[in-house]
Amino acid sequence: MSSVSQSGAAIRLRGLGKSYKSLQVLRDVNLDIAPGEFVTLLGPSGSGKTTTLNLIAGFLAPDHGQIFLDDKDLTAIPAYKRGIGVVFQNYALFPHMTVAENIAYPLQQRKPRMSRDTISSRVAQVLKLVHMGDYAERRTDQLSGGQQQRVALARAVVFEPKLLLLDEPLGALDKRLRESLQMELRRIHRELGVTIIFVTHDQDEALTLSDRIVVFRQGSIEQIGTPEELYDHPRTEFAATFLGDSNIFEGTLAQGRFNCADGHFAPIADQADRPIKLMVRPEKVSVVPGPFDMSALNLTTCAVPVTIEDVVFAGASVRVEAVTASGLKVMARCTGLEHALSVGDKAHFVWAADSSRLIDRTTP
Ligand code: ADP
Ligand code: MG
Repeated sequence: MSSVSQSGAAIRLRGLGKSYKSLQVLRDVNLDIAPGEFVTLLGPSGSGKTTTLNLIAGFLAPDHGQIFLDDKDLTAIPAYKRGIGVVFQNYALFPHMTVAENIAYPLQQRKPRMSRDTISSRVAQVLKLVHMGDYAERRTDQLSGGQQQRVALARAVVFEPKLLLLDEPLGALDKRLRESLQMELRRIHRELGVTIIFVTHDQDEALTLSDRIVVFRQGSIEQIGTPEELYDHPRTEFAATFLGDSNIFEGTLAQGRFNCADGHFAPIADQADRPIKLMVRPEKVSVVPGPFDMSALNLTTCAVPVTIEDVVFAGASVRVEAVTASGLKVMARCTGLEHALSVGDKAHFVWAADSSRLIDRTTP
């Protein structure tokens, strides 16, 4: 729909800080977002995601730092003049109005005034964009949750913002509806070319939607990267455990080897002189039952002796839960098991050395 298509803005956050009384909720947040990018802020509850969006939208003022939209400093510009589209969790539609009236509303508030024809054709266009063309005359309190979120999205894009802020917009919906709306959001992002900053605490949603993910932890950015970078090369224990499942081993690094507290070692090219741990994703691990010839361990293979605790059929994969000699819970995710495994069996978790990742220990 070329008539709705628009370009996205570049966003730069510089040294953003925000406190509530003595509680510092954001510290030194720096972020560069390219025009048209889909960037997700991911982090646990209370990590500062919503605060960051509120600062960008202009609903809150930062204590420190600056926000630039296409090189324009927004700091002194009030929210309603920033031209940013917003869909927040608690940003309700007007229940006594129809769908069309809800969407027309932001256009009617604009100066200079738009003609009624222009407004109604814009409303029709965005309703088509969110696949709600047949619902224009419906009252919004007669819509399902998913339909209401589509209308909220239509209302946020109707004035052609170059930046769209979405704060957990799918959070209240059931899994299936959420997944179908995620696909819709991807399509709408592609069609509009608008820059999107999306907030979620749901790692799968972040992996599915984003060009890049920004991992928040206690008011700071922990790591920024593409979904692949963050999943394959998390830098810290927090990033590794927040995005996907992981096995994390204690140990020390010496002479090109990671000597694991569980008795095995892993060859490692990295020379780190910082506190580190070793991480391997469960789907990189295979389970070898019975005794394992540790002399077969070489520069390309890692193995840890384990005792099987559970074998869980999960449809497309089998999850093998086990415990190491030191009591560490570990997990392998296999596409199939060549050997029968029973609870209590001795086995080894085996993986290729290049699947090992060194990560920084996260200080709590
Ligand atoms: P998130 O969206 O990542 O869950 P928020 O940005 O909403 O986190 O909140 C970050 C921190 O700021 C939390 O500890 C929250 O309790 C606190 N906070 C948010 N708003 C206020 C407020 N108006 N007054 C005091 N503390 C607040
Ligand atoms: Mg929030």
